[in-house]
Amino acid sequence: MCDWKWHLLLAISICCTFLGTVRAAAEATSVDRPDATTRNAHYVSNREPLAPSALIKLPIGSIKPGGWLRRQLELQAAGFHGHLGEISSFLKKEHNAWLSATGTGDHGWEEVPYWLKGYLNCALVLDDKPMLAEARLWLDGAIASQKPDGWFGPDEGRSGVATPLKGREDLWPNMIMLFCLQDYHDATGDDRVVPMMLKYFQYLRGVPEDRYLVGYWPKMRGGDNLFSIYWLYNRTGESWLLELAAKNHRQTARWDKDVIDWHNVNMAQAFGEPATWWMQSKDSEDLRAAYRNWRKIRETYGQMPGGMFAGDENCRPGFTDPRQCVETCGMVEAMLSHETLVAISGDLLWADYCEDVAYNSLPAALTADLKALRYLTGANQVVSDARSHSPGIQNGGPMFLMDPNSHRCCQHNFGHGWPYFAQHLWFATPDNGLAAVFYSDCRVTAKVADGREVSIQQQTHYPFETAARFTVTTSGPVKFPLYLRVPVWCDRPVVTVNGQSVSVDARPRQYIVLSRDWVDGDSVELTLPAAVTLRPWTENQRSVSVDRGPLTYSLQIGEKHERKGGTDAWPAWEILPTTAWNYGLVIDEKKRESSFSVGMRAWPADASPWTPETVPLWIDARGKRIPQWQLDRHGLCATLQPSPVRSDEPLEAIRLIPMGAARLRVSAFPVIGEGADAHVWPEPALPKRNFRASASHCFDSDSVDAIADGLEPASSADASIPRHTFWPHKGTTEWLLAEFDAPRGVRSIGVYWFDDTGHGQCRVPRSWRAWTRDGDQWTPVEPLPNQAFGTDKDRFNRVEITPRTTTAARVEVVLQADFSGGVLELRIE
Ligand SMILES: [Zn+2]
Repeated sequence: MCDWKWHLLLAISICCTFLGTVRAAAEATSVDRPDATTRNAHYVSNREPLAPSALIKLPIGSIKPGGWLRRQLELQAAGFHGHLGEISSFLKKEHNAWLSATGTGDHGWEEVPYWLKGYLNCALVLDDKPMLAEARLWLDGAIASQKPDGWFGPDEGRSGVATPLKGREDLWPNMIMLFCLQDYHDATGDDRVVPMMLKYFQYLRGVPEDRYLVGYWPKMRGGDNLFSIYWLYNRTGESWLLELAAKNHRQTARWDKDVIDWHNVNMAQAFGEPATWWMQSKDSEDLRAAYRNWRKIRETYGQMPGGMFAGDENCRPGFTDPRQCVETCGMVEAMLSHETLVAISGDLLWADYCEDVAYNSLPAALTADLKALRYLTGANQVVSDARSHSPGIQNGGPMFLMDPNSHRCCQHNFGHGWPYFAQHLWFATPDNGLAAVFYSDCRVTAKVADGREVSIQQQTHYPFETAARFTVTTSGPVKFPLYLRVPVWCDRPVVTVNGQSVSVDARPRQYIVLSRDWVDGDSVELTLPAAVTLRPWTENQRSVSVDRGPLTYSLQIGEKHERKGGTDAWPAWEILPTTAWNYGLVIDEKKRESSFSVGMRAWPADASPWTPETVPLWIDARGKRIPQWQLDRHGLCATLQPSPVRSDEPLEAIRLIPMGAARLRVSAFPVIGEGADAHVWPEPALPKRNFRASASHCFDSDSVDAIADGLEPASSADASIPRHTFWPHKGTTEWLLAEFDAPRGVRSIGVYWFDDTGHGQCRVPRSWRAWTRDGDQWTPVEPLPNQAFGTDKDRFNRVEITPRTTTAARVEVVLQADFSGGVLELRIE
């Protein structure tokens, strides 16, 4: 018996005459989640003894997205991802290990399956035949590569299973290909897939426990393998797969205990592993662990809008400002985790989380035409240029450049974001009904009740409107429950059925359940009233974000797109601000709502709303500039200062647009204050330069100016300040040059060496020497007695010399054999 029938039952007693029969209007009840004590009769869901599925993913092809989501998929197919075979060397077919029956060749790691996962699913959702043929070629390659013992795929992975892990040899790339194979099977029923996967998992069953899931990426991401094991179990009932699942869980990083790793993609991808395992363990602690993990991630590093966190590449203590970023990979993996968790638990909290990322972060990680992407995107990101922002951002290099030719992992992996989202708009329910979880223009066709196929056309511009209209197509009357999600921001949903209002008493994060004998042409209209609300970020200097419904709003900043490299076919772009961005919000505390007014324009003709020019919604607000809020030495907007902030600048009207349409953005705002508690924003600290620095070589992602910036390192491994390295030079003799604007007296030279033992390949050097310049002559530096050219870690290696006046100093560095090296600071006194 379904619980929801007893919950808040508000049967509508009004009867109406319809098509000559007397019919009751819909019953509307509300539930926290579907009752999973029954099993859906039409679609594969969890088999005993796994915990029953709360929501069941519909077969690929059941949901045909329309509106902006379909447009987004078409742009993806036409953009860099659909053409990545022409761009990425990893996808070259010649000698490609993924197309080799013997498993030998090149590019046998994650890039091919990363790309295929998005490409295949985009092709399946769009039903694009040429793309499907291209995808099929790679799938056939993977299937044909299976060895008699069950292994498939490149040798690069294989040797990781049979031997102690070396380099990149691991189970990880096959985990991604398994997703491709499953999706392909779900869509086509190809009868090669299940036997192949059985054989592969039999092989993994035989891998000794101490050699199973070894290596960093496999151990962190073992949850993906677990998901595939259950996928196969539900289709075959082979009970040994549950033993393999248990081993898989035992050998996966302990996400059930804590956030076990702080790499942004690992976090987004793997935090939910214990919830997947919960389906077998049925220990509620395991399910709770997924909730606890995401809450901890957001509370510790996610005090910012957009649904993600200050990940950069890896979260770093002290780097929690909303200017920190997350990888595009992190976004799509978070969305897939949330989609999986909403299915496992039925809990709509995960749907809210997913939408936050999907609408507020992902669209802005790419250019609107989906022809270029960047590696890192943040909530407060006011330039998107080619320069290195390290160590303000963890990674060096042009991580903010919109470049379809670079950002290797994100470039290949981005593609599954929208296709998987489109596949999860609707779910089947255990009671043979349908649930609309993510609202989007789309058509779903599925079996309900005793097996009758119905279609429901959904019309909406959600999230740009917070209403949706549904029309049922059925060949005859059919009774089934229709579940409609109430998002967290809506406390008064309004429903009509065939124009008649239905009494609904549903709270945020509940489902409205409409149950009736549906007939052809029945219509449902759902309205989700949304108000402008402010979200405080207490932990990030009491900044605030402006939300309305599922969208968060950013300051509209003028964008200039400037070509920066790439090819003529696939250019790369810098996006530079053309208008001021350093505003604080002026909020009337007594009448908050009057501080904002919502504006609208017509829906864009090309159905592409994710640009400042075409976005159909905005919010007009008021602000004052904060002149001291500038770019800092890393070229990033300076970190936030405590709000309220004093500003003597004039009050201005400012426009806020949805974050997803803003590739340059301020979306965690300082708040302007007038009172005694208003803080004066400090003047920006100007970068210091003690001398002109140059070097025989400097790694692209580092900066030779680092040695002259006057910043004292905390240690030789200090990653919080800029550095110079000779990477990738190893064992060579290199030089550094310090030139002064005017002759200067010198009595000592000190070098603070960079050394990343334990992380990288830089070490203190084997030896060094120094010279000073006298006219055009270089004079060797002779240390005073008891002085030496030291190579200690974690301190200045200072040599005192006979005082002299000079215009330059030169340091020669001999690197250790097989190692590179670098300098954090050069101090000439
Ligand atoms: Zn990535």
